[in-house]
Amino acid sequence: MTNFVRRFHGEVWYICTLRRFRWFEEKGMPMLTVTEFNAQPKVRMGRRELLAGLAAGTVFPFAAAGCTAENPELGRRQLMLVSDAQIAQLSDQTWQAARQRERVSNNRTLRAQADRVGGRIANASGMSQHPWEFVVFDSDEVNAWVLPNGKVGVYRGLMEVTRNDDQLATVIGHEAGHVAGRHAQERASQQMAAGLATGLAAVALETTDTQNAGAWAGVLGAGLTFGVLLPYSRRHELEADRLGVDYMARANYRPSESVTFWEGMMAQQSRGAPPAFLSTHPSDGARMNALNAHLRNRGYA
Ligand SMILES: [Zn+2]
Repeated sequence: MTNFVRRFHGEVWYICTLRRFRWFEEKGMPMLTVTEFNAQPKVRMGRRELLAGLAAGTVFPFAAAGCTAENPELGRRQLMLVSDAQIAQLSDQTWQAARQRERVSNNRTLRAQADRVGGRIANASGMSQHPWEFVVFDSDEVNAWVLPNGKVGVYRGLMEVTRNDDQLATVIGHEAGHVAGRHAQERASQQMAAGLATGLAAVALETTDTQNAGAWAGVLGAGLTFGVLLPYSRRHELEADRLGVDYMARANYRPSESVTFWEGMMAQQSRGAPPAFLSTHPSDGARMNALNAHLRNRGYA
């Protein structure tokens, strides 16, 4: 970050680096409410003044409408610089584009399985506000993704490597976990705050320009379909794992099958044939340990 104080939509936000934001987050320091923020004098500060202010606690990292939000599913606050309406609109556009890019499967058995398992997981997640839809794409690719509006794309290749409904529930549960975790929104917000995508955000939030479709699909989670690779972070993966197996248990699937599924994916990777699904949902031994620990803590194992 070169500018510590940025002007955005006519508002001055005190935006520090993300590292600084996390530092405040970890310290549990309160963020200002919009009213409190608006009551603050608007001052442009140099780096030295800002750092001095931060050290003295007289300057808060930032505060504006919707900047951070508590997510009860995660038990933490999240940076939120995008509105639900904006994300819903982008998700709808991405969904339409993905359905045009991929061939939708006519296989009745696979479609019925996706609907059956997806429906049970969506119910168990309690996220009835989303128009859930589970579409099987007729492709050998071992992949699946979800958009923040509850639209799930599952590739035939992935369904063929799952051995039972429980393993498909692992995939859909994990994807639903990303939705509950508002990971796409957080990712979009982080990119905007980091100044990496401010141009993109300003343009793409207002237009259906196809040039931006891939970039936004990446942020939302469906990038591979558009040739854009943007893996979820470790933190997001662990959160989606935990929520996903909780949904599995609530939907009466066997959470232990999640371990079998992910180990199978990793075995494929170590044989030199990494499934596309792992490139956006990176996995390793540490993640498996965390998953196993969660299963034990919950009494699922
Ligand atoms: Zn994931």
